[in-house]
Amino acid sequence: MKKLRLLGFDAKPWSDKCEPDRIFLTRSRKRWENYDGESFLIFADDWKSQLKELEVRYSISKEIKPFTRCVECNTELIDVNLEEVRTIIPERVFLSTDRFKKCPNCGRTYWMGTHVEKIKDDFKEVFDADEF
Ligand SMILES: [Zn+2]
Repeated sequence: MKKLRLLGFDAKPWSDKCEPDRIFLTRSRKRWENYDGESFLIFADDWKSQLKELEVRYSISKEIKPFTRCVECNTELIDVNLEEVRTIIPERVFLSTDRFKKCPNCGRTYWMGTHVEKIKDDFKEVFDADEF
């Protein structure tokens, strides 16, 4: 679910309340069979293969908006400038990037640091893409 949020998808944990505009993703055949709305049964164990399954079925790579959503609470992030985050981020981050985003709901701050390059490489592999 966090990987889907990283890719910009609106992803929420399972709840018993069926929401018609959502696709229910599950690895449980039983839940999948008993679900009334649109659902997708995931077979793979590892997240990369799971994303590949979603790509095959839904072509999710066409709708990716990476790093636009809070991985903790699913809220769309807003841009913040350097001055706003100057006092709350580590100095090494401050020196290495000037791109920051903030979650307006939970207040978490995100930055485009070296960890993002690693994630991008993973996603490039999953979607067989040159750029990410
Ligand atoms: Zn948040």
